[in-house]
Amino acid sequence: MSLRKILLCTDPVLRRKADRVREVDNELRQLLDDMVETLIAAPGLGLAAPQVGVSKRCLVARDKADSEEEHVYKIINPRVQSRRGEQWAYEGCLSLPTLQAEVCRPLQVVVTGLDEYGRPLRVEAEGLFARCLLHEVDHLDGVLFIDRAEPDSIGWMVPDESEEDGYRLERATIPEVMAAFERMRRRQEEREQRKQEGQEDAP
Ligand code: ZN
Repeated sequence: MSLRKILLCTDPVLRRKADRVREVDNELRQLLDDMVETLIAAPGLGLAAPQVGVSKRCLVARDKADSEEEHVYKIINPRVQSRRGEQWAYEGCLSLPTLQAEVCRPLQVVVTGLDEYGRPLRVEAEGLFARCLLHEVDHLDGVLFIDRAEPDSIGWMVPDESEEDGYRLERATIPEVMAAFERMRRRQEEREQRKQEGQEDAP
């Protein structure tokens, strides 16, 4: 297993509709294993393949993160079969680090798909886990959580010891946010290029 690089939201692959998986093979299982490792290291609740630069319809998601009963699901070609109720909560994303926004999602969902051996899988989810699955399925359609967020709720998490949670939200608009992530992405690219050039120069 190995860690994969998590792409920022302005990477074009995150706005593309991902391709259906036609064959569940060793290469795909390797991808899913790497995604689980990357997710837990991040740490996060869910990760979709486009976030690691692979435009395929698969995701990994943790149902009870950090508890002993936790299960990490690997779902291929997920489909949301049913949605019930609604819930409001703040949400974040590994491809939009330190950003939060309030998003209304269904409270309960049933998601079907295939497991890592190509066997049919059915997952019933509620609350945070339902939110996580819906967020990841959105990624496979090129949709980001800020597309669904209450515009006034979008903000950067700024460390603040006087707040109960240890941070406060500094409001931002979607254009401001996207411009900031694009600058971040360019800086990352430049750093990687310099690293590569440095390696080429080395004897
Ligand atoms: Zn995300």
